[in-house]
Amino acid sequence: MSKKKPRPTPVPAARIAGLVDAHTHLASAKARTKDEVDAMVNSAVEAGVERICTVGDGLDEAELALEAAHMNDRVFAACAIHPTRAGELDETARKRLTEMAADERCVAVGETGIDTYWIKHDPDGTASLDVQEEAFRWHIQLAVDSGKALMIHNREGDADMMRILADAPRPEHVMLHCFSSPIDFAREAIDRGYVLSFAGNVTFKRNDQLREAARIAPAGQLLIETDAPYMTPEPFRGARNEPSLIGHTAKVVAEARGVPVEELAAEVNETFRRIFGV
Ligand SMILES: [Zn+2]
Ligand SMILES: [Zn+2]
Repeated sequence: MSKKKPRPTPVPAARIAGLVDAHTHLASAKARTKDEVDAMVNSAVEAGVERICTVGDGLDEAELALEAAHMNDRVFAACAIHPTRAGELDETARKRLTEMAADERCVAVGETGIDTYWIKHDPDGTASLDVQEEAFRWHIQLAVDSGKALMIHNREGDADMMRILADAPRPEHVMLHCFSSPIDFAREAIDRGYVLSFAGNVTFKRNDQLREAARIAPAGQLLIETDAPYMTPEPFRGARNEPSLIGHTAKVVAEARGVPVEELAAEVNETFRRIFGV
């Protein structure tokens, strides 16, 4: 039996100018008040991060995301009901999310999509596939109507997600957050013009396929994110994540693409600006 290694305290990579974090959960990372949001953003800024998109998983969390975006100029919000909680998308939630999507600080409808992992592992606590599909389609329409980017969560839902996206109205920008699918799927997503956003798992040793996906994504179809407080990149895997740690992911993605990390940062910065309209 091997003993578990003690977790090192995570520290940011050496400063890389122009970074972005395209998907994070500030409220889940315990940044809710203005002081807490500013502190977390400031430590990210010290690491070179210019802009952050924070996401709420339910209606209350979406409110917090939008509040954070109004508290700090560097923060933008994505609002939606997470697929695992799609049963919460009642009339009240639909009405409020429609208002939120119209807010200038809300830049994306998300995270929405398909999650069959939790259907398998917690069937009683997770919305069924039918409920998820209906909610996903509603969010897609909201992205189209509001002109905001569609930010997709896909966990073991590749086929359903692609089927639904293919026959639904097409939002201008579709971003696959925490891209974790096989390389063939990456190729099809790229062909369809979707933006692939890579999180800390692109740094994990076994994930050669993700690094290959990061390599082949054309400029303009690539983003990076922390998905904090989860998905902490190597060498701090398992510790708590936050936006200041995005540089570790940026370095691995830059290496996969064979470009200097500053060039990668400039590229994803421009994509963030374009798809989120900021
Ligand atoms: Zn997600
Ligand atoms: Zn997330």
